[in-house]
Amino acid sequence: MDLKGKTAIVTGSNSGIGLGVVRELARAGADVVLNSFTDRDEDHDLARAIGDEFGVTARYIRADLSKGDEARKLIEDSGRCDILMNNAGIQHVAGIEDFPTERWDAIIAIMLSSAFHTAAVAVPMMREQGWGRIINLASAHGLRASPYKSAYVAAKHGVVGLTKVIALETAQDPITANAICPGYVMTPLVEDQIPDTMKKYDMDRETAIKEVILERQPSKDFATVEQIGGVATFLCSAAAAQITGTTISVDGGWTAR
Ligand code: NAD
Repeated sequence: MDLKGKTAIVTGSNSGIGLGVVRELARAGADVVLNSFTDRDEDHDLARAIGDEFGVTARYIRADLSKGDEARKLIEDSGRCDILMNNAGIQHVAGIEDFPTERWDAIIAIMLSSAFHTAAVAVPMMREQGWGRIINLASAHGLRASPYKSAYVAAKHGVVGLTKVIALETAQDPITANAICPGYVMTPLVEDQIPDTMKKYDMDRETAIKEVILERQPSKDFATVEQIGGVATFLCSAAAAQITGTTISVDGGWTAR
């Protein structure tokens, strides 16, 4: 795999899956743009460290993806966009009657609307450059529902639908658009759910993970961020040039059930 000369922008990439994907794309030679909305010194140090480790250009650009104009500016300020991965995400768990409106709005904005805004700027750039790969990080929850995750499930189903539309609109361009649908990957987003799950079910950590969190994942194991990065890298390969408008599940058998 040789992605030298390509620039990859990965949203929400100072931790978890996004960081794993950035590292795998950089390992394949791509220049990378990291993003989050925290803008701490460590975010810039992280970009520098990745650049040094893989011998690529790595930059950090702060953008709050809950705001459409900042999502668009992220792509514009990157100057070039060959690979776009929409990955930033947040979660909230509550029944529909108690779901805070501001959390609904934030989840839809960060996970769904930002993917629309970034693609709106990236697609014309990719057309002009003559090559492009759009990879949207959806979820098994983009294909299956779970109770108490209304905004997350709605946003991820929306991301899958949006991906298919982008694929159809770019089908005759050298551009592909696909969604990766992981089951559970051990990242800070999942780590945050563990204490509440332990408390709610009065379980120790290991039991809460196996019996509640991984309940629907037949493999009973988490995917790794490197595995998600590997799938993203594959989608950028020549072998994947005709793969567009589809979902690739990395879910230990969850959606096979
Ligand atoms: P994470 O918390 O490590 O990463 C989320 C990222 O989003 C962080 O980098 C954070 O800074 C960024 N972010 C949050 N709000 C933002 C905003 N307003 N603007 C810009 N960036 C923002 O969690 P993760 O598990 O790595 O999640 C990454 C993606 O993978 C999410 O879309 C999540 O829904 C999806 N996903 C995760 C799992 C899993 O099991 N971890 C499974 C399926 C899908």
